[in-house]
Amino acid sequence: MPLEIVRNDITKMKVDAIVNAANESLLGGGGVDGAIHRAAGAGLLAECRTLGGCQTGKAKITDGYDLPAKYVIHTVGPIYNDGKHGEKVLLESCYRESLALAKEHNCETVAFPLISSGVYGYPKDQALKVAIDVISDFLLENEMTVYIVIFDKAAYKISEKLFSDIAEYIDDNYVDEHTDYRRESMRMNALPQAAPHARRKKADVDFLEICDCKAMVAGDDLDAKLRQIDESFSQMLLRKIDEKGMTDAECYKKANIDRKLFSKIRSDIHYKPSKPTALAFAISLELSLAETEDMLRKAGFALSHSNKFDIIIEYFISKGNYNIFEINEALFAFDQSLLGA
Ligand code: ADP
Repeated sequence: MPLEIVRNDITKMKVDAIVNAANESLLGGGGVDGAIHRAAGAGLLAECRTLGGCQTGKAKITDGYDLPAKYVIHTVGPIYNDGKHGEKVLLESCYRESLALAKEHNCETVAFPLISSGVYGYPKDQALKVAIDVISDFLLENEMTVYIVIFDKAAYKISEKLFSDIAEYIDDNYVDEHTDYRRESMRMNALPQAAPHARRKKADVDFLEICDCKAMVAGDDLDAKLRQIDESFSQMLLRKIDEKGMTDAECYKKANIDRKLFSKIRSDIHYKPSKPTALAFAISLELSLAETEDMLRKAGFALSHSNKFDIIIEYFISKGNYNIFEINEALFAFDQSLLGA
């Protein structure tokens, strides 16, 4: 997945480069900076001494020394005052400059901490939004896998409003589902005996479907039926990309899917994606709920109201919000798997 939010200690990340939220001296400090220097060993500080510091919003690169990462990119985030002193522009610049340096050094995988969101006081939800916005813009033009590393889940939050809206939506839909189920079973029990087929339970229906299938085989009809097989997931995906006037790259990038996986799907009309991959494409194509269901069915899945992951996706589609990174942010906050490959 080109952009992933993960919970980890950044010093443990096995990537080409980790980014350090440093201070202007580049001579080490507290927080993530201290942790990186401790894990990298004295060689890192010695190299940092030769760099002559770094201005806020800029970035410099060193080797990774004892870290699993090959490089450390040191960037200096702004100290948050009240949000009216150019903090956002400076924070955006930290991400942009760091990514540019990573690209210059041919890094394929880079991990960022949430810059400025510790001692420098940038509100975490806003800091995360800046990170996601700049990184996802960069990924539209560049091939790289970027991790946003959240150290402390308790300290992480999406905006209170979004969190409570989604929580409410989940609650409402769980309730609906259960109410419908009760109503449905009352309705079923009230049916007259003359309509026994309407009283069949799910297991009976499955059994009947198997019987129907056997009957079909007995009638040598299977070949004919198989020839009428529906459009596959891959075929529907490619058709929708054309209908929406998108290029392949626009579609897989917006879906947070890497190029290799997309090529596999493109070249194999019977490719069976995972549910998060299928949904990522539905989001990227901005499909309606009905079209999303249709696309999922092609891959053998459905949206269910007994599943938080599905309800969160449904929430975003029903709001017309197709920003996969915002959706992933919310899924992460609710401890769900993320969309994408
Ligand atoms: P700043 O001075 O830029 O605010 P801090 O180091 O104080 O930098 O905090 C930046 C972010 O890094 C905070 O969200 C903090 O929770 C996080 N952090 C601290 N230690 C680690 C670590 N080992 N790995 C990843 N993130 C970390």
